[in-house]
Amino acid sequence: MTSTAIARHATGSTEDLRSAPEAPMDQPDPYTALQHSIGDLTEALALEATAQAARAVTIKNILAMLADMRQNTEQPHTPAYLAAVRHLYWQHTVIPSLELTAAAGFNYPAEMTAAIGHVPSGLTCDVCQQDIVRTSRSWLPPTRVRDGLLRCATCDRASQEARNRRWEAAAMRSSHVEKGPVNAPCVDWMVAARLVLAYPPIGAVDPDDKYAGFHWRAYELAQQLNQRIAGTFATHLVVPVVEASRIVESAERVVGWDLDRTWEIVVPLTDESPSLILSRLERRIREVCEQRKAEALTLFPTPAPESA
Ligand SMILES: [Zn+2]
Repeated sequence: MTSTAIARHATGSTEDLRSAPEAPMDQPDPYTALQHSIGDLTEALALEATAQAARAVTIKNILAMLADMRQNTEQPHTPAYLAAVRHLYWQHTVIPSLELTAAAGFNYPAEMTAAIGHVPSGLTCDVCQQDIVRTSRSWLPPTRVRDGLLRCATCDRASQEARNRRWEAAAMRSSHVEKGPVNAPCVDWMVAARLVLAYPPIGAVDPDDKYAGFHWRAYELAQQLNQRIAGTFATHLVVPVVEASRIVESAERVVGWDLDRTWEIVVPLTDESPSLILSRLERRIREVCEQRKAEALTLFPTPAPESA
């Protein structure tokens, strides 16, 4: 019997399930049981719909009552009224926030939450030991735990600002070193500049050559330095650390490529070895860097870590 019923059901027969061949009395027909359960489901859905409609009506009533309470009084936002709104907002999240805001007479939800106050989240700030409050229904616990400490919004901001101040101090120190004046004889500078200028970076930058961009900049700086030397009668010239180190480093690479060619470039300028001149410049740069680093520590000290 069951196989016949299943076959009929499977072939999409629209025949009433109960018209399936009768089951023996001791075995209830599973299709009849299924139909009963479907009936239960329909009933449950109807109840749910009724409950939902009742809920919507109740919420509407509550909001209307709130609006009336506000409109029928001289002082709409009494402590008792705000306490009622606070209770509705925080304890009955089923009431839509925007509708509650409008009924309670506020322009926007943040204005309302500022007036009714926030509620504790159950979390405590590890820095100031104050309760961390929920500031809105959509509030989520802080996820940024820096140095293993959970912070409230105020302490988190203070911590971020302290970090920013430390970064700024570090940037100022670095800039102070980069601007350090490297004073050296014009001849030494000329040797370094000419070595760099002897190998113009021609064509497109080779993406595989990580020094390519570095060379372009060094070449540009060497050109500027050469022009400065040409335009001065002074015996010495001051070049900032950041430019000097780039030119000298590039010139050293040129020496490494072709020492004979290097000598040819330098001979018209000086009798000294190009390596010796570059080492001297390099030493001078290092001295200035060390001096400026020491100065920078006094001028731009690292701010104290955030106060607890
Ligand atoms: Zn805190």
